[in-house]
Amino acid sequence: MATATTDQPVSDAGDPDAELREELLAVVRRFRDEMIIPTAARYDAEDLYPEPIVEKMKELGLFGITVPPEYGGLGLDVRTYAQIVEELAYGWMTVSGFLNTHFMGCFLIKTFGTEDQKQRFLPRMATGEIRGAYSLSEPDAGSDVASIRTRAVRDGDDYVVNGTKMWLTNGREAGVAVTLVKTDPDAAHRGMSVLLVEKEPGPRFEGITVGPNIHKLGYRGVETVELVFDDHRVPAANLLGGEEGQGFFQMMAAVELGRINISARAVGVARRAFEESIRYAQQRETFGKPIAQHQAIQFKLAEMGTKLHAARLMCYDAADRKHRGERCDLEAGMAKYFASEACWEICQEALRIHGGNGYAAEYPIERLYRDAPLMIVGEGTNEIQKMVIGRRLLDEYGVD
Ligand SMILES: Cc1cc2nc3c(=O)[nH]c(=O)nc-3n(C[C@H](O)[C@H](O)[C@H](O)COP(=O)(O)OP(=O)(O)OC[C@H]3O[C@@H](n4cnc5c(N)ncnc54)[C@H](O)[C@@H]3O)c2cc1C
Repeated sequence: MATATTDQPVSDAGDPDAELREELLAVVRRFRDEMIIPTAARYDAEDLYPEPIVEKMKELGLFGITVPPEYGGLGLDVRTYAQIVEELAYGWMTVSGFLNTHFMGCFLIKTFGTEDQKQRFLPRMATGEIRGAYSLSEPDAGSDVASIRTRAVRDGDDYVVNGTKMWLTNGREAGVAVTLVKTDPDAAHRGMSVLLVEKEPGPRFEGITVGPNIHKLGYRGVETVELVFDDHRVPAANLLGGEEGQGFFQMMAAVELGRINISARAVGVARRAFEESIRYAQQRETFGKPIAQHQAIQFKLAEMGTKLHAARLMCYDAADRKHRGERCDLEAGMAKYFASEACWEICQEALRIHGGNGYAAEYPIERLYRDAPLMIVGEGTNEIQKMVIGRRLLDEYGVD
């Protein structure tokens, strides 16, 4: 039976898609148990791109779950997406990262793209034939988005792009990178546009050089790379929505989906750490009894389980709002902030509960502990989340 901390039931009374979603989640859990959990430690240790896992994701149709059916996807809701992300991240956080930038790209094309762009990209993205990367950050611009420098200059039917983008997750294997560029360097936020940059997966592509994999603390197996543009030509037909100056607002709308992904994967990683801990605490004995019988350990488990439950509910709330098309920067920011901090705290407590074994690569806690901090930094640091949350709360509760 599902409880607050374990798998959640999906069915809503009278929901015609409930059965399909239940079935899909069962398929995802089986895939996770058979292919991801048994291999994650090896891929992580070798920082190896898990090609068989990505190929299986294509076969299962996971790259199309939120793409509308008219473009070849399943058109599922954002909460179901979050539940799938949780299950994958429970197995290995990296696998949820293959979906994140891809669905941020799909969301951008689906929401803002011209009909021609939807027809050209979405069906191939739904099958995973081309995968998506999301490129906002630069070496000197992360939180401060307006200070990006990558420049796109219109030349006939093309834009000529020059500059360096940084930290692209999936940046080498992706076939399309949704890329924020400056089209008018004098116009701050209104001077930014999004280009759909098409490339072959690999280290080079006419005017694009992909840097080597950045060596990371965790989140291994998925490549994170620099992308250098040197007079790279992008057809003007690939300007998202066909209108310059919309890029900042478009990318921020996609970031809400990215923050829901981060909160969902934080729930997945935290749930794994919690479940490993509650099992271990009932097996490991000290002073003549299982450590779960020591009140100090029970209190840790109580705090971990409570935080996990709250994080999941916040994630689902943000997901439902996003799916209804409501503005949800406040709720997505809160969910991302709370869930990532809760996940990091739960992983630290899991390490304590496991004692010396928590520090050994033989147990999964060591990997969860290295993976968790990314979620504090990625999709906008938690300091930036607090700025967004604070501003929105002051708007809402302003006094005259
Ligand atoms: C593994 C990994 C994968 C990533 N994948 C992607 C990707 O696919 N696409 C992409 O575009 N980016 C990606 N990023 C980049 C990520 O989004 C940025 O690292 C993040 O937004 C922070 O930007 P920064 O690193 O430039 O830090 P900075 O902006 O330099 O911030 C440094 C510190 O200052 C704080 N700070 C900054 N401004 C303020 C302020 N006004 N008030 C208070 N504190 C402030 C920050 O919170 C942080 O603590 C990835 C990063 C990592 C580590």
